[in-house]
Amino acid sequence: MYNIPVILPFFDQDEADEVSKVLASGWVAQGGKVAEFEKMVAAYEHVAHGVAATSCTTALHLALIAMGVNESHDCIVPSFTFTATPNSVLYTGATPIFCDVTADTYNLDPDCVERIIRERYDDRLINRQTGKQLKAIIAVNLFGLCADLPRINAIAKQYGLSVLQDSACAFGAKINGTMEADFGNMTCLSFHPRKSITTGEGGMVLTNDAAQAAYMRTLRSHGATVSEIDRHKKAGYLMPDFNELGYNYRMTDIQAAVGIAQMRKMDFITDTRRNKAALYDKCIQEMGIDFLKPPHVPEGYYHTYQSYVCVLDMERLGFRPGEMDEIEKASNLRNEIMSKLDNLGIATRVGTHATHLLGHYRDRYGFAPDAFPASYMLDSLSITLPLYVQMTEQDQIQVLQSLLEIKNELVGRYA
Ligand SMILES: *Cc1c(COP(=O)(O)O)cnc(C)c1O
Repeated sequence: MYNIPVILPFFDQDEADEVSKVLASGWVAQGGKVAEFEKMVAAYEHVAHGVAATSCTTALHLALIAMGVNESHDCIVPSFTFTATPNSVLYTGATPIFCDVTADTYNLDPDCVERIIRERYDDRLINRQTGKQLKAIIAVNLFGLCADLPRINAIAKQYGLSVLQDSACAFGAKINGTMEADFGNMTCLSFHPRKSITTGEGGMVLTNDAAQAAYMRTLRSHGATVSEIDRHKKAGYLMPDFNELGYNYRMTDIQAAVGIAQMRKMDFITDTRRNKAALYDKCIQEMGIDFLKPPHVPEGYYHTYQSYVCVLDMERLGFRPGEMDEIEKASNLRNEIMSKLDNLGIATRVGTHATHLLGHYRDRYGFAPDAFPASYMLDSLSITLPLYVQMTEQDQIQVLQSLLEIKNELVGRYA
């Protein structure tokens, strides 16, 4: 029996020391430590401003409001993503317009984006069916790999759309040396323990626009015109004015203290994850695990491997690719492989969801599974292998060895 989780956060004494200092100071709500953490993250991503929030979900909500998205708008989102992406659009009253991904990168398919814009919108970008106006594209940089940001930005420019990056999984990712947040769009990060560095819960919006950053700082704190820390520096008994419907999306200084310590390890964590991903790549090939397609990295892309997500190769497993009932059979095989790994103490997960098929969205919009075929296929056939800093080479080989044995035992019963 092994004990190999999918991910483990990487902490040492530094996090405990930073938190102790905050506790001793008596200021535990949002204050100087959050400001310090924001500066560190923004500098790392070569962006002027970081606006911390309680999660990536609330960061996405703040960013969409700052972009002016409201109930009169549509936003394009990939159909293969975590449910928080389209949820954040619904919070504003806008409608998420699902768009399929490419099967090899798992990210938004720019051809599909162009087709949707041409087919569903008139030349003022009004949705011919609903009368809503297309306002933005949310590009999700899934699992540590950037979407095709150059092409998505070009499409947005051509049509006058805004781009928001959901980079919950891709802090530190690059294309040809350019950091993901440096592509000029507002970018949201997550510091949930499943992501590269963690503050327990937490998120941040990155932007070069000072006015937008200031607006989001107001919105995250009930719409207050003066931040709590500034209020306590001067006449603290005076309450500020509240001119906006705001929220309480404030990160605490306790969380930021953990984040500051994590930032000092950011390069080490990313390098280690990348080395372990390379070891998986190499062993999958050397051990002849040809039924598993490892993550694809396009030329010039720097993958940070928040998750190491593989896809079952249907053909190699004796299924007919592309046929719905065959995908379902292969998916059952995938699930049984995951269950047997779990029995051995090796945790795996599906990549992420075909969001259009989650109950809430299925009920709301009535999508069929094959409305977005690549998303459906990836939802059915993806498998995330364990990957974390503390994982040993022996652990990784154990995962692959067990996978191989379980597949050999099961495959005859399915194909
Ligand atoms: C994890 C995740 C989120 C949500 O992040 P939280 O910080 O947990 O709110 C949003 N989008 C994607 C793509 C994610 O993977």
